[in-house]
Amino acid sequence: MKPLLDETHDASVRSWVESANVADTDFPIQNLPFGRFLRRDGEPDGTVGVAIGDRVLDLGGMHGTKEIFDESLRSAASFCSFGAMGLLMAVGTGRRRALRRRIHALLRQDASASDREFASRHLLAQTDVEMLTPTERPEYTDFYASIFHATNVGKLFRPDNPLLPNYKYVPIGYHGRASSLVVTGTPIRRPCGQTREGDAAPKFGPTAALDYELEVGFFVSAGNKLGETIPIGEAEEHILGICLVNDWSARDIQAWEYQPLGPFLGKSFATSLSPWVVTMEALAPFRTPAFARAEGDPAPLPYLFDESDQERGGLDLWLEVSLSTPRMRVAGIAPVVLGRSNFRDMYWTMAQMLTHHASNGCNLRAGDLLASGTVSGADKTARGCLLELTSRGKDPVTLPTGEQRKFLEDGDEIILRGYGERDGFRRIGLGSCHGTILPAFAN
Ligand code: CA
Repeated sequence: MKPLLDETHDASVRSWVESANVADTDFPIQNLPFGRFLRRDGEPDGTVGVAIGDRVLDLGGMHGTKEIFDESLRSAASFCSFGAMGLLMAVGTGRRRALRRRIHALLRQDASASDREFASRHLLAQTDVEMLTPTERPEYTDFYASIFHATNVGKLFRPDNPLLPNYKYVPIGYHGRASSLVVTGTPIRRPCGQTREGDAAPKFGPTAALDYELEVGFFVSAGNKLGETIPIGEAEEHILGICLVNDWSARDIQAWEYQPLGPFLGKSFATSLSPWVVTMEALAPFRTPAFARAEGDPAPLPYLFDESDQERGGLDLWLEVSLSTPRMRVAGIAPVVLGRSNFRDMYWTMAQMLTHHASNGCNLRAGDLLASGTVSGADKTARGCLLELTSRGKDPVTLPTGEQRKFLEDGDEIILRGYGERDGFRRIGLGSCHGTILPAFAN
């Protein structure tokens, strides 16, 4: 795995799309994330495009034009026309990198007059399109890769022995439910389920412990065949890029149902995604060493150990979760930040999670979503869910309106953001992932 920096990372390059040059935009010309969307003109299957400033370049609408994409890029671009992100993902890193360089050339300030004229005909306002989840029919797996999250949650249940003995050997994960993956902005219905308080009889009703989880998701590009594995040294070649994930959780339902088989209905009611896939190419400037294990921790087993993954498998990416309540909105108070953590603090790298997932011969497929688990850090300000932040409701958060929250209430909105920042490079962002809680249906 090499750093692979090229002209697309040059911080001095500006775009003729003026909104891409604004200092705090998530989508400068150095980013170029892929997303799937519906045009307002009614393309039923959607199309794939690239975000640039507050616009989207409609690759699907451009692909047929010979002079824009040469032979080698035309098939990659053609997948965009029918919204097939999964196929675009599987074209391989070489051609995808070439497509990125071509799009960069089309959008830079000194693009040729014909390139600029052509691209501007396929530029839409992001407010004029309807974003979809990044891939069509993914599978969804959720990991538990933050040792800080695992320790904080473990302490609530086992104060003397918070980390289970497998944690430092196995990237812990479970198979999530893919049918309830939704794109940012989709309202989240408070789920009902079975709960039990103390020794009282179990009852069925709306959850009283609705929580968010601040996570990063990454998408499989090329998969592996059933029965084959993905060696750790090749794992990054199988990853397209990342998005924000909010793995909504009902803690009371979860606590009663999870033994012995793990999470089920307390998790499967909804998972929100940001719509833009920020590619591994765009993230190249923000790579860091893998998490530094404490002295005395076991080394990863050989199938999870790779020299270059240890050197560059981490990702310096800031993540933020904010809350806005109905009363805050009425009072004109901006969303309040509840947690700010960094993805470089994860115990396992994305490559280790992916390689572990395929290590039994399970076939991963192009477009599958693997999520990291809640991203928390060592500090109290770096907690990625309310379960940790409020110690399971014992220590409520006080908001600027004087309201308190142990868990989420109806009308609350949760907003996730993420960005990479490094001297000498342009800041790039993941966009946002937000959702508002609707009341439970009466039972
Ligand atoms: Ca999770």
